[in-house]
Amino acid sequence: MAKYELQHDRPNCIGCSACASVAPDFWKMNDDGKSDIIGTSVGLDGWERKELEEQDFSANKSAAESCPVNVIHLVKKETGEKII
Ligand code: SF4
Repeated sequence: MAKYELQHDRPNCIGCSACASVAPDFWKMNDDGKSDIIGTSVGLDGWERKELEEQDFSANKSAAESCPVNVIHLVKKETGEKII
């Protein structure tokens, strides 16, 4: 079972591209000026979500820490704890 859920509050993304620079294996810029988590689609609420294994945690934590408007989140699946 995946250990973490990566979340992107896409409606509030300002398109600065920091996440795509820091973690290009997981993040890319879209033609609409916002970023996307690679391999996901936008949910009905406008957010993107992806399940992550332990080895993918560090790069995405760095991406979340680089986001100037804090719209990237990581949640522990087992406990629901919000890490960032
Ligand atoms: S770092 Fe944050 S604001 Fe900048 S493109 Fe990525 S998600 Fe959007």
